[in-house]
This record gives sequence, C-alpha cells and structure tokens, in this order.
Amino acid sequence: MNFRIISFKGMDKSFISSLIFYLLISCNSTKLKTFEYPDPVDTSSRIINYQDKKTYTINDVVFADNQFDGARLNDFIQINDSTFQVTILPENEPINQSPHFAFRIWAKQAQTIYLKLNYPTSEHRYVPKLSKNGEQWRPIDSLNYRLIDSAKNALIKLNLENTKLWVAAQELKTSAEAINWSKQIANHKDVRFISIGKSKLKRDLVGLDIYSGDPKGKDVIVVLSRQHPPEVTGYLAMQSFVEELLKEHRLQKDFRNKYRVLVFPLLNPDGVDLGHWRHNAGGIDLNRDWAYYLQEEVKTIVNYIVSKVSKSKNKVILGLDFHSTQEDLYYSFSDNMHSSIYPFKDYWIRAIDDAIPNYTPDDQPFPLGSPISKGWFYKQFNAESLTYEIGDETPRDFIKLKAEVAAREMMKLLILR
Ligand SMILES: [Zn+2]
Repeated sequence: MNFRIISFKGMDKSFISSLIFYLLISCNSTKLKTFEYPDPVDTSSRIINYQDKKTYTINDVVFADNQFDGARLNDFIQINDSTFQVTILPENEPINQSPHFAFRIWAKQAQTIYLKLNYPTSEHRYVPKLSKNGEQWRPIDSLNYRLIDSAKNALIKLNLENTKLWVAAQELKTSAEAINWSKQIANHKDVRFISIGKSKLKRDLVGLDIYSGDPKGKDVIVVLSRQHPPEVTGYLAMQSFVEELLKEHRLQKDFRNKYRVLVFPLLNPDGVDLGHWRHNAGGIDLNRDWAYYLQEEVKTIVNYIVSKVSKSKNKVILGLDFHSTQEDLYYSFSDNMHSSIYPFKDYWIRAIDDAIPNYTPDDQPFPLGSPISKGWFYKQFNAESLTYEIGDETPRDFIKLKAEVAAREMMKLLILR
C-alpha cells in the first residue's frame, strides 16, 4: 500500500481506521492462512519402514519380486507343497486398514499354487487384480479367491508360468503414469502442464491449468487426487472427470471460457511409488495436514494455489478431492456451512441422481473435524468442497460414466451462475 498519511488530513478518524481494516482484510484474503480445527492432528514427520527390494527364490523353483514402482511385498515363504505365503506390512503405524499389496510371481515350470495373503497387523481389503504385463488388469476369478482366518487374510489360487504374473490390490498407477497422463492431456489447446515443485523424496509434483482465453478474473475449481496411495478408483474417476471437461462440445467450450480449473492428479508420488498403504514419505496422512502444512507436498500445493489465484485475481469457488473407500459416496459440508456458491452441492447431487437411472448418490454431510482438504477450501476461500469417494471395487466402466455425468452436471450448473 503506497498512500501518504497527509492525504487523509481532515478525514474522519473512524473512516480511516475502517479503510485500513478493509485493506488489511483484502490483503489477507489472498495470503495463505493457518487454521485451528476441533480435532487437530500433529503432522510432524515420522519414520517409515522401507521394503527390501529383491527377488525371493524358493528352491530355485518359485519366485516373487517387488522390484518395480508401486510394489509392496515384505516377505515370501513356502508353507507346504502347494501353498506359499506373501507377507504385507505397512510403511508405519498407526495406520488405517488399507493393506496395499503388489508383486510379481512366477515359476520355473508351469504349476498351480495356493498363495496366502498374510497381513500381520491388518485385515484384507482389496480383491486381488491380475495382469500379464502391468498394464491391463482384471480382478481374480471369485472361484480362485476366498477369505480365511476369520476374514483377516485371504487365500488365492494362481496358475504360475515362467513369465511374471502381476498381482496387486488395484491396477498399478505409478507417478510415471500420472505424469504421462498429464502431459498427454496438456496437448489440448486449453491445457497447460505445470510443474509445481518436488515431494519429500524429490519426485515431481505436477498439475494442469485449464481455461481458454485470459485467466484473469475467472472463478476457479480445484481438483485433487491420490493423497492416499492405494486409492486408485478415485484417481480413475478424477481422470474421467477432467477428460470430460476437455471435450469439444458447446457446454465444455463455454465452461472453459468462463472458468479456470487447476488439477493436481497425484499429491503423494512418494507414497504411490513406495507402495504405501496411506502415508507419504514423511510417514503422515497428507489429508490431515491442511492446517499448518508441515509436509512438503501439501505445503507446495497450497502455496501454488494461493499465489496463482492471487496473481490472476481469481476466486476459488469449488474444491474437489478424489478418494476411494468401501462404497461410492460424497462427503460434503453440513447444512450450517454456507460456501460462496451455497447451495450448489444440493443441486449438483440431485442432477447426478436424475441423470443416472438406478443410482442414488450417497451424500454424507459432516461438520469440520480434522484438518482435511475439504475444510481448507472452505476456510481459506469460503469455497464449496466435496470429497468424491469411489468404492474400491466399483466397476471401472461405471466409475467413468459417473465421473463424466458429474463433470457435465457441474458445468451446466456453474455456467448458469
Ligand atoms: Zn482417501
């Protein structure tokens, strides 16, 4: 602020103090703030355990390995003639029950084996997916898969060959895949590939900046994904959602002309490539760090968003964070929280409901508790925000269909504003 006190000579004192107060408030609204929450979480870094990256060999006959990004395999042993066991451990504890596994297994000569998925500290969650090449995946046949030990562990039947069979909790989507996808999306004329910084272990944090024409003054929608490594179905939904925004129809063109979308497809590249169950390389759940930004990934993203929107005089109106859980649902704000576009969410959920026969969105409002991204959008920008949750085993074609519908209905509503 570059005014001289002398120019206020003769002005009413209370007018001057309200003016100064107003200027302070308007400066503050473009600065990154820190926030208190009812349920604070200490997100200082903690130690994580790294896997031994190796090929396990049993009698020079059966082999398993974890020597690829996204792998998780902590031990491999033989139990009896036909039964083997993989042990799966988390990066650190306490941690929620999302035991991600990913390994390759093969044999010198073709043979059928039983493989126990053993989780000493957790319970089985994901239906195993199989692949011959790490690219195309299919869920295991239900006849070859059952829960054992009171549903704590699982037993699967596999036909091994002398070529590697990939077995994983979810389709493998590494940080390299996220970067390749982003670069490919950025071939669109309205998309800019952005490199925003590095993770704790110096992996690239990337994003997409989507709009047509001049970014100045456009209201902003922020899209986040993959704070939690195994949450691949949320990531697939995010990809289909973003791809829908870029189609060459009237709706999409009008939308890109009026709005700007910042997309951060992979917030936790270290956790993803290290095959983590939930945390980043700092041993922390990133979706609890949106108050004081102690972790590199969250700190980099929030600083980027705030500086970008402040530079172009944008206003963030909506934040969408894509995750996975057991069932499809939306975590939204409770009714007493009115964002700047309230009640957008109610119209949006209803529109998605109307557009998809035989599907009713499960809207689960809850008040601010711990420092998650949803609360940050509201506190920092008074923006609307939703956690878009997809079930672990939701059919992949339905994930795509629903994300496309959600994107179209969002665009229709926002264009009418
Ligand atoms: Zn999550």
